[in-house]
Order: sequence, then C-alpha cells, then structure tokens
Amino acid sequence: MSPPDAGPMILIRRLRQIMAERGTGQERLDKIVRQIANLMVAEVCSIYVRRQDGSLELFANEGLNPDAVHRTHMKKGEGLVGLIADTAEAVNLSEAQTHPSFSYRPETGEEIYHSFLGVPMIRAGNVLGVLVVQNRTPRHYSEDEEEGLQTTAMVLAEHLASGDVAGAVLAAGASGRGRVNLIKGETLSDGIAMGHIVLHQPRVTVRKLLAEDPVEEGRRLAVAIETLRATIDAMLDRRDVSEPGEHRDVLETYRMFAHDNGWVGRIEEALEGGLTAEAAVERVRNDMRARMLKRQDTYWRERFRDLDDLSDRLLRILAGKTGTAATEVLPEDAILVARNMGPAELLDYDRSRLRGVVIEEGGAASHVAIVAKALGIPALGQADGVIDIADAGDAAILDADTGELHLRPSPELINAYSDRVRFKAKRQQRYANLRNVPAVTRDGTRVSLNMNAGLLVDMAQLEASGADGIGLFRTELEFMISSGLPMKDRQTAMYRKILEAAGGKPVVFRSLDIGGDKMLPYLRHDKEENPAMGWRAVRMTLDRSGLFRAQLRALLKAAEGRDLHLMLPMISETSEYDQGRTILEDELALARRFGWPEAGKIHLGAMIEVPAMLMQLDAIFKRADFASVGSNDLIQFLYAADRNNPRLAKRYDPLSPPVLGALAQIVEAAERHGRPLTLCGELAGRPLEAMALIGLGFRSISMAAAGLGPVKAMVLSLDAGKLRAEMATMLKSENRSVRAELLQFAKENNVDLGQESATAPVP
Ligand code: PEP
Ligand code: MG
Repeated sequence: MSPPDAGPMILIRRLRQIMAERGTGQERLDKIVRQIANLMVAEVCSIYVRRQDGSLELFANEGLNPDAVHRTHMKKGEGLVGLIADTAEAVNLSEAQTHPSFSYRPETGEEIYHSFLGVPMIRAGNVLGVLVVQNRTPRHYSEDEEEGLQTTAMVLAEHLASGDVAGAVLAAGASGRGRVNLIKGETLSDGIAMGHIVLHQPRVTVRKLLAEDPVEEGRRLAVAIETLRATIDAMLDRRDVSEPGEHRDVLETYRMFAHDNGWVGRIEEALEGGLTAEAAVERVRNDMRARMLKRQDTYWRERFRDLDDLSDRLLRILAGKTGTAATEVLPEDAILVARNMGPAELLDYDRSRLRGVVIEEGGAASHVAIVAKALGIPALGQADGVIDIADAGDAAILDADTGELHLRPSPELINAYSDRVRFKAKRQQRYANLRNVPAVTRDGTRVSLNMNAGLLVDMAQLEASGADGIGLFRTELEFMISSGLPMKDRQTAMYRKILEAAGGKPVVFRSLDIGGDKMLPYLRHDKEENPAMGWRAVRMTLDRSGLFRAQLRALLKAAEGRDLHLMLPMISETSEYDQGRTILEDELALARRFGWPEAGKIHLGAMIEVPAMLMQLDAIFKRADFASVGSNDLIQFLYAADRNNPRLAKRYDPLSPPVLGALAQIVEAAERHGRPLTLCGELAGRPLEAMALIGLGFRSISMAAAGLGPVKAMVLSLDAGKLRAEMATMLKSENRSVRAELLQFAKENNVDLGQESATAPVP
C-alpha cells in the first residue's frame, strides 16, 4: 500500500526540511501532518499534545474537521489516544471503532475512518503527545510503517520540546516529570536542605536526531558499545566488588545486557532508520520504557531499570560525558541526586556547595550514608523513582527528618520551610554560643561531653562543636570506605592526621569493629546466620592478629610521644581483654627493640556492650585502664532486639528500669575501682536520655556531633545531685519505662530539653 518513497528516511528528511522553513511553529506543524499523511498515504494525520493535567489536545490535523484543532480535548486515559499516552505504546488497528477504548468525538467527523495507527511522542522518557494516522479502508499498517511513524514521532517530540510551537511547550514540559512532586525515602542523615537538583550522573539530552553520515554513526555506536563493555568489565574486576553481593549482582546484570545482541541489535536497527547513534539508543530506550509501564512485577521492572541505566551510560559515552557532576561547577545549594554512589564519590564533591544528597537505592547501612552523616549533610536513601522524576536545576526541599524530597515546591511550602530552616539556624546559633562554655551542671558537676567520629572528615566538627575530645573513633569506617585494605603506612598517616586534627584533645580509638552490619567488601567473611552475634569486633581481630597488630603498630607510630587511648569492642570475657593487652605489650616490646617512635602513656580500655560483662564488672575494672559502654549493642542484647530492625525500634524503651539498672551497676563498679567511665552509644546524644545518664552518675559521655549543643544546654540547666537522688526510686519502678517520670522531673526543674525542636508547622 505504501509508495516506494515512504520509508522513514524520506519522511524524516522531509520533516527536517519543513522544520528549517520560515513561518510559525503552528504553520510548520500543519505542514508536517500534511506531509506525513501524504507519504503514508493516509487520509488523516493528527498530532495531540499532552497537557499538564494529562489531557490531550488536538494540536494539528490533516483530514478531520479543521475546526476541531485546539478544540478537541481527550481527558487523561480517554479514547485510543489516551490509551497510547498512558501506556506509551503504539496502537495499530484495522478496525478502530470496535476497540473498547475507542471514543467518538462528533466534532472531528472521524466516524468514516476505520484503520488507525497511533504512536506516542516520547522525549527523555516522557510522553509529550500522540501522533496518529487513519485510513478509510480497513487495513493493517505494516511493521515498517509503524517503525517509521515511531521514529517520526520522536523527531516531532524533540521539535515540540524545542519551544518552537506556541503553547505546546508548557504542556509538554509539564507532562512527565512534572506530575510527581513528592518522593519518600529512608533517612540516611538528618536535616533539612533547600536548594537545586544536581544529577550525579548528568543526563544526556539527545538533540541531534538525524544522521548525516550513517556509516560514521554506525562506527561511533560500535566504538561506544565496546567502551561500555570494557568499563563494566573493569568495574567488575575492581576489588571492592569482587565479593558476591547486591552491588556485584547489578553489575553482572549490566554485563549481561551490554553483551546482549537483542538490545544492541535493536539499536542498530534504529540506526538503519536514519537516526544518529544517540537517537537510536534513545529510541530503543523509549520502547523499553513503554514495555516497563505495562509490567507489574518488580523483577522485570528492576531489569528494565538496569537496561535504562545502561542506556544512560551508553549515551554518556557517546556524548563524551563520562565524568560525574563533581567535576562540574555546582550551584551554591546543590542537592545531589544519584541512583547509587560510592562513599569516595561523595567525598569528591565540594562540600561548601553541597546541601543534601538523595540516593535512589542506598540504604541506611550503605557506606555513602556513613559519609553523608560524617559530613553533616542531610541525606535520603531508597528514594524510589527519583532519577526519573528529578531534573537538573529543579528547585527542591529535602526534609531528611521526615524522609521526604519535595520537588518543584510551591511558594507556600518554600515559605513554611524557610521559617523552619531559619528557626533551626537560630537554635544552632544558640548552641554555637555555648561552644566554649564548660559543661557544668547547676550544682557544679563537670560533665565531659565528647564527640563520636570515624572519618577524617569528622574531625572538622571537633572544634566547631566544642566537644572535650573524641570519645569514640570508629576506626573501621575509614576501612569501609576504602576500596582495599589500608596497609600499615596508610593507616599510620591516617591516625597521625586524626591526632593532629584533634589539636591536643584526647582521641579514644576503638580497634576494628568489623563484622555484624559492618563488612569490608574486600575481606573474605563467611555468611553468618546472626552476624551481630557473630565473628565480629575483637573476636575477629584476636583470631586474625595480623590485622590487629598492623593497626596497633600504626596507632603507636602515629601517636609519636602523644598519649594513646585505645579500646577493644565487644569484650565478652576478661580473657579477651587480656589477650588484647598481651599483643599490645608485644608490639611495644618490638617498638622498643627496633627503636620505633613510641607513644606517650598508653591507656587500654574495654567496651562494655555484651551483657555477660555485667557479671564480670569487678574483674574487668581490675584490668582495664578505662571502660566505655556501647549502649547500642548492650541494649540490643539485653532486650534481644535487633538494633537495625525498624519494627522493633520503638518496642522497648531504653529509659527502662532493666537498662538503667544495668547502667547503674556499671557506674558503681567503675566508682569502686576508681576507673574512668564513658558511654558512647546513641543514648548519649539525646537530651532526656543524656540527663538520665548523668542522673545515674556518668560524668563523661560521647555522642554524634549534632547532639553536643542540645546536650550541653541540658547539662547547664540540670541539678545532677537532685536527679541522682530521684533516680534511685525510679530504678526500683516496676513500670516498663520511666520516661514519663524523667520528663516530669525535667519539667518541674526547668531542665532545657530543647523542646522547642518541636519545629514550626509545615503544611
Ligand atoms: C555501641 O554499640 O553503642 C557503640 C558505640 O558501637 P557501635 O554503634 O559502633 O556498635
Ligand atoms: Mg557496639
């Protein structure tokens, strides 16, 4: 039926000529529909443009009643045109009127047409409109015709998005990404940020669609596919993904697709239709998206997403833009959006311009979450769909406190959040003013307030927060964000920098607490049923003493005359502490023998975080130079409640007689033996909980930097003696929690718990 010159190439060439002609955008569209109808020997050709509300407006037409143009609107999902827009799929029918979705519009006069071929006009994954041809006689459009019309639709979509056609741009631009404005995710690092979206992997917009030299395009595509395959192979060979796991599985899927001849073959076919290599990749991606929209099962959606990601990579290779946004100039208020990101990649960004991070896949245990927390940047993970919905340059509000990202926020929302941010800033200012005020209670008790850290980047907060020192340095974190095991010299340099950054304030290093939820991807570790109770922390370092010795040697060397505080995590029986000490003594003897630089006074502490230690308190305090309570682990083991299980997060209250009773026993034992005692779990950073700790007799606590201001304000307003007396009664309570009693005490005695943090309302 189609004439010999109706191939897509001819059609597209004609379109290119029309687009270059003078006249208004509407005039050009009118010519285009005429031309398409002519070349496809169709009686009707129509262009529908999608409006902001999802409806479709007839924008140009050949063959129907001319008055219908701009008058005919199909509601979202209405008729065959609505179906095509919703499913992003072509509809090819020899008898349209019998299709269940057919909707008759009398103003168009289309009742005389039987056959119907409609295709979506897709750009960057968004359906901007629908292109339709119709014929009077019932006929089936060939695959070639359908293919040709799809390619034409893609060219048209680009034309619409160029802003050339008055009225179409608003509708088109607002159609796809514009519809969803709120993304929910999981909080990786608290805080609120207002700013503009930056895509970690910049999206490539395909502008040049038609090939001038098809042979050259074929060559470009072949080279790009080779490069893509090589990069994925290289990523798989990297040490940090050499172990089986989710990350490796994703890469394996990428590799499978990159070598899949079906995918590559489809791109090559599209190329033969006269497109540039970029346009051919985009064309095949659009088809895939259409299929993805139809599938409900998560497995297939995931696989399609992988392919989508791969198309992005291929486009970036073709465009020569393989770097991340870290190499570009960021806006001053960047909210970074990534599908996934390694910790080192986040550190590549200019911190002074980074306001927030949103990661489509990352969970709370991801390493990038650790870095975001260390940098004090609000961050959201598991933000499903963010890559599709957010566009570079979009205004955004990231509320990591509630786990929400608002894209393109309304002026009302911006106002409400501006109030909230100002309010927070004022409070921060108040805490900053307390920075150099010593933490002394109203009745004259000095409490040492320390900061937890784990990365070199954390150290900047020590000065800013006014903490007395680092009460817990989690040495495993630097190991976790490294792509390979840090050798002794690298560790020495790292610890030296940390001590230097501390500027004389004490730093309590904790020996490696690997295992549990903190795995090193490059270190072999058998899968365990209960990793939190498995081969972790000191259990592992005593068994693999090479690892422990290397760390000790590095710490001793880095200390160079300075005092060294080191504590051992997860001590479960005193013999583990004794073994640790023996190894330390050995290392000291070696240092002396070989004349290595020596540390000043060495303090070896034990962490109390396994309940069995509660029955060995006298024995451990006889040995250890100091102790630090790891309340996160201690509570999880006391209640047999996984600290990472959100369903259990609120089930048991740490401010309960069993927990407080256990802590009171530890305080009494430390006092009996005259040993320094600290608590370094999350409890220490919450004002009410910290108040209870002081009431129990703790005189040193260590917390995340963000807790220092609020906790200091609490300490300054507290009468510790009075609380200690009242807590003796609370400890005997048979209630499941004494939170209410503690709150009552705070209220009656004007203890500043920072309650104004109940924040300004947000609509
Ligand atoms: C703890 O268990 O309370 C602790 C401080 O250590 P981590 O959170 O690293 O296990
Ligand atoms: Mg612990």
